[in-house]
Amino acid sequence: MNIPLLDLKAQYQSMRSEILAAIEATCDEQGFILGPRVVALEQAVATYVSSTHAVGVASGSDALLLALMALGVKAGDEVVTVPFTFFATAGAISRLGAKPVFMDIRPDDFNMDPTLLERVITKRTKAIIPVHLFGQCADMGAIHDIARRHKIGVIEDACQAIGAAQNGKRAGVLGDLACFSFFPSKNLGGFGDAGMVTTNDKELAESIAMLRVHGSRVRYVHEAIGINSRLDALQAAVLLVKLKRLDQWADGRRRNAARYHQLFADAQLTDHVTLPVTHPHNFHVFNQFTLRVRKRDELRAYLKDHGVGTEVYYPLPLHLQNCYRDLGYQKGAFPQSERAAEEVLSIPIYAELTDEQLQYVVQMIAAFFRKR
Ligand SMILES: *Cc1c(COP(=O)(O)O)cnc(C)c1O
Repeated sequence: MNIPLLDLKAQYQSMRSEILAAIEATCDEQGFILGPRVVALEQAVATYVSSTHAVGVASGSDALLLALMALGVKAGDEVVTVPFTFFATAGAISRLGAKPVFMDIRPDDFNMDPTLLERVITKRTKAIIPVHLFGQCADMGAIHDIARRHKIGVIEDACQAIGAAQNGKRAGVLGDLACFSFFPSKNLGGFGDAGMVTTNDKELAESIAMLRVHGSRVRYVHEAIGINSRLDALQAAVLLVKLKRLDQWADGRRRNAARYHQLFADAQLTDHVTLPVTHPHNFHVFNQFTLRVRKRDELRAYLKDHGVGTEVYYPLPLHLQNCYRDLGYQKGAFPQSERAAEEVLSIPIYAELTDEQLQYVVQMIAAFFRKR
């Protein structure tokens, strides 16, 4: 059996004619940059997450950059985030000449550990970026309380978490600003790069809309030094078709996650495999289903030989990346992040997987550990 980590072809087939019609209509209009389809997507995403504003941008990475710019983050400032995330979270901070200040994660959900937050805040801290890793929200209540006390902005890196919720509120309204990615492998993926920033703050939204077009509100009048980061009408056309089905896909991912829990329990693999934990106040949308395993790299090679695609998100924490050696962090600085980097393995979770395929994945993992 051959089961890739993610297979978007079945999803595409289920809505092919609707997507091609939307692309054709956009081509007939010959309007490709921003425009009414992008406005429609912004309104649809704002409605979806219950924010008052949403601003379409070119990628999730740019969403983070623009959110930091809107909060006024500049050279010499500090921004607190976690080292166990995709590079873009910290890269956006460095692009502005600001300094990423890392702190460790919780071992259970792989997210920012709020009990460690206060000790890394200094007079220079301008913002905190918690990441909702793998589709589960970080502990935003605790993070927000600390941020409020210190008058620091909170930016959700919700790139993996559209549709996720905490205490009944969706990612997108759990901080001051939230950043989404529509990279093809995200739960809501375009046909290329695209992103969005949501907020309930009118001024921040207007600021991002200005910064994404070179800092201009009135054409050729530039009130700030912005960037070129617009969402394409073609991406918006595709994403509008897909957004209608997002909850259905999230349900499929959640159903598969529950089934994996059952199958792993039946296979009695608990000595070898730790399954992802969902906190009771969280609604997890499983952009990834991430195990902790012993002999991770051997298991990964074995699964590959038996047709099962996996990935390691992420093998090298950001504080140990070469490009960040100037920050001066040593190995051992963030033990939970470093341990996670050695143990994690994400397995296929997309909605279209069949029960036979889920069973096969667990059987292969059981077969690997039986031999050892
Ligand atoms: C995907 C991702 C990003 C960046 O999004 P792009 O659209 O690829 O630029 C940022 N942060 C996290 C956690 C992501 O998963």
